[in-house]
Amino acid sequence: MARDYAADISDPVAGEIVSNVGVWVDKEVVPVASDYEHEDAFPQPLVDGMANLGLFGIKVPEAYGGLDLSFECYAGVCMELARGWMSLAGIINTHVLVGYAIQEYGTEEQRQKFLPRLVEPEIRCALSITEPDAGSDAQAIKTQARRDGDDYVINGQKMWVTNGQRAGVYLVLTKTDPAASPAHRGISAFLVEAGTAGFTSGKKFDKLGYKGVETTELSFDDARVPASALLSGEEGRGFQHVMSALEVGRINVASRGVGVAQAAFDDAIRYAQKRVAFGKPIVEHQAQQIRLAEMATKIRAARLLTLDAARKKDSGVRSDLDAGMAKLFATEICQEVTLDALRIHGGVGYSKELPLERYYRDAPVMVIAEGTSDIQKIVIARNLLRDYPV
Ligand SMILES: Cc1cc2nc3c(=O)[nH]c(=O)nc-3n(C[C@H](O)[C@H](O)[C@H](O)COP(=O)(O)OP(=O)(O)OC[C@H]3O[C@@H](n4cnc5c(N)ncnc54)[C@H](O)[C@@H]3O)c2cc1C
Repeated sequence: MARDYAADISDPVAGEIVSNVGVWVDKEVVPVASDYEHEDAFPQPLVDGMANLGLFGIKVPEAYGGLDLSFECYAGVCMELARGWMSLAGIINTHVLVGYAIQEYGTEEQRQKFLPRLVEPEIRCALSITEPDAGSDAQAIKTQARRDGDDYVINGQKMWVTNGQRAGVYLVLTKTDPAASPAHRGISAFLVEAGTAGFTSGKKFDKLGYKGVETTELSFDDARVPASALLSGEEGRGFQHVMSALEVGRINVASRGVGVAQAAFDDAIRYAQKRVAFGKPIVEHQAQQIRLAEMATKIRAARLLTLDAARKKDSGVRSDLDAGMAKLFATEICQEVTLDALRIHGGVGYSKELPLERYYRDAPVMVIAEGTSDIQKIVIARNLLRDYPV
């Protein structure tokens, strides 16, 4: 292996953990990822391997049995998982994000109830915001939770829920006050457990990439949950809580962009050294050197930007600007780099025998999910304007 992918992690212990995950990825994930992906099969043995490494409890506080590692370490781990197969970092994403929301905003009863079960993991988590008529405009959701005695009754349709079939608990965004203005004041988040009567997981989407992990519809038909399922116990706070947790998701997706781009680059530079055209390896043609130089520069910038955003989150301050910039840049360059890697491979890059076509198909979801690139730009601009008041 030519490069130490953990070299930019500032904390040596975190760097060692990222290195160990990288060794596991090279040994266990790289050889089998395309087979699982082409079959769209859930990679249970790899998920068990991630659990053995403690990755499902990576952000859970030690008091609840987790590893309580830094966001910087988490970003490095996600880069390495995605370097092997992007879907693995997706399987862990909403799990860590929902765990973070419970830890930061849950009641002590909710922390005690769920956090220890996320570590092994006994249960996995999913996040459900998106609906048929509300994606980027999350305040336009229609799913309603109506108070009824000691319970809430939830009705509505959700879609694009990653981990939607196998999760044990779902953080679900609802309206408790549909008439509220501004709308976010009427939005509340609930921790809905699998098996709740009236709550079902529906159609699994057949996707371009991001396979192996299921993305589904959810439906709520008079699904009754106890009032204790309301995150934080307070109505009207769900939108802020979920938006804050999405910073963690954006660090994950940015890291995935870096990991997939790195995998594509590694394959491309090796191939360019072996493939001969016009009497010499193609890497000796200057056009290919320039292409590789541009790819590597973009990946390095994306890696540093992402680790910087993670360190900002570690410092305890809101980091929408940093996480937004990292997510925007890392996922956009991932699209460019995977296409450039295909160009370097010529026709063989288009074959399903090499993992390149998988990187190429996995890249687009990252510019869409967890907030599209357009939405990241809006978030970034809003933050910048706050810093330059007129
Ligand atoms: C594979 C996959 C997994 C997903 N997993 C989850 C999940 O686990 N949980 C969950 O809740 N959701 C999930 N999503 C949903 C995802 O977050 C949404 O698809 C995304 O937020 C975009 O919403 P939309 O699809 O409704 O697009 P729209 O909001 O309809 O956007 C369509 C286009 O309009 C643009 N646009 C919208 N508003 C503006 C604006 N104000 N200014 C400029 N342009 C704008 C968008 O950038 C985009 O280009 C997933 C999606 C995919 C594809």
